[in-house]
Amino acid sequence: MGFDAVVVGASLAGCTTALQLGRAGLRVAVVERQRSMGAHKGLCGHFVLGGTKPTLERLGLWQAMLDRGAATSRPRVWTGDGWVDPDVDRLDPAISLRRRVLDPFLRQLVADTPGVELLLGHRVTGLLTEGRRVTGVRATSDAGEQALPARLVVGADGHTSPVARLAGVEADAAPNGRFLYWSYYRDLPAGEEPKLWLVGADVAVIVPTDDGLWLVGVFGAKAGLEPFADRRHEAIERYLSDLPESPSLHPEQRVGKVVGTSDYPFARRDPVPRPGLVLVGDAATTSDPVPAVGCGWAFRSAEWLTDAVIPALHGRRDLGRAARAYRRSHRFVDRYDRLARRDALTLDVPRPARLIREAATHDSDVARRLGLFAMRAAPPSVVMNPRTLARAWRTVRAARRAPSAVGDVRATATT
Ligand SMILES: Cc1cc2nc3c(=O)[nH]c(=O)nc-3n(C[C@H](O)[C@H](O)[C@H](O)COP(=O)(O)OP(=O)(O)OC[C@H]3O[C@@H](n4cnc5c(N)ncnc54)[C@H](O)[C@@H]3O)c2cc1C
Repeated sequence: MGFDAVVVGASLAGCTTALQLGRAGLRVAVVERQRSMGAHKGLCGHFVLGGTKPTLERLGLWQAMLDRGAATSRPRVWTGDGWVDPDVDRLDPAISLRRRVLDPFLRQLVADTPGVELLLGHRVTGLLTEGRRVTGVRATSDAGEQALPARLVVGADGHTSPVARLAGVEADAAPNGRFLYWSYYRDLPAGEEPKLWLVGADVAVIVPTDDGLWLVGVFGAKAGLEPFADRRHEAIERYLSDLPESPSLHPEQRVGKVVGTSDYPFARRDPVPRPGLVLVGDAATTSDPVPAVGCGWAFRSAEWLTDAVIPALHGRRDLGRAARAYRRSHRFVDRYDRLARRDALTLDVPRPARLIREAATHDSDVARRLGLFAMRAAPPSVVMNPRTLARAWRTVRAARRAPSAVGDVRATATT
């Protein structure tokens, strides 16, 4: 007898999918090439944006992450024109727990879920098919090859997605004009605040994570890559030292090596590429790591998928229609990814974005909208709409002509 679903990949997207399917009483196999329960993704800044909080709460993961030491934060943002303070009353915070803690915890949760079989040390090397329909996978382990038939195959196998490749699914790739380097620091002065600096096309961050650590990073345009060729700790510390209200960092506060990459291109695939096959997380959309969206998209796309297909796998709905409903939900990600592709190449920040950044330092309504956008808690239209752009333009004009009038704009900001 086959499985209701085979999930390929036991990382964020795969574990979330398997958890939800298992909790719904379905039979699931999770195939993961890593052999160890403790394996984790190393190249990840693990800053999960506030827009994912409702999903994490629904999955029962938010409190569990806090229990394991996760730190929450709403960074203040330096725009070059001034500081934008977060709307602490209405903006859900981001949450940060290093992947070395998060990944094994999620995998254990999956292993403990009735109905779910976790197959570690198994690599998917082929697909079972009937015509165009994907009907299962072939997995290879030390014990040899085994066929795992299923009504639904879920590719949660990351940005290179071997499952997509085996199914002949092309990725729509795009270049990224920025690099990312970060490291961890401890013993920062008491009262230090999470901050994010927008410096033209560059972004610098200092945000808390578990175990009393702070992640300190520079995500810059590749034209500024040269100082990061070696002695990267010094390069990060020098970059931050020029920024307003940055903490002074010392070598004795460093924890571990500098992590990062000088190049991380985009890849987008149809999340429902063939009958019987769906893609979630990075396998569907590997976006720019700079705005820290990937973990959130992994959790949220798995939630959209399972909401759509659970009734179908219980025989109450057509599976093809359910998969198409998932594709529609996934458009939330696609809209942001289109903007991110432009942003990752635009080394000169576009005029509307500059306007919004400047207006947000004066006008609490524009600031609130920018916060929802940055935390991916609303579609991009929360900022990118004619009314908000017009309001931003009026605010900036008033601020430049008569700074004293700016207080009026704040006071009359709509909610
Ligand atoms: C430099 C960098 C920084 C980032 N920082 C952040 C951040 O701060 N915040 C954020 O939200 N996102 C960040 N991301 C993105 C985030 O790491 C990813 O979006 C997220 O890990 C995607 O999760 P996933 O489950 O889809 O895929 P992955 O985590 O890539 O997992 C894929 C899984 O599939 C398994 N697998 C692959 N092939 C096979 C096979 N053939 N058979 C069986 N198993 C297989 C792999 O072993 C792995 O366990 C960052 C990414 C990068 C590159």
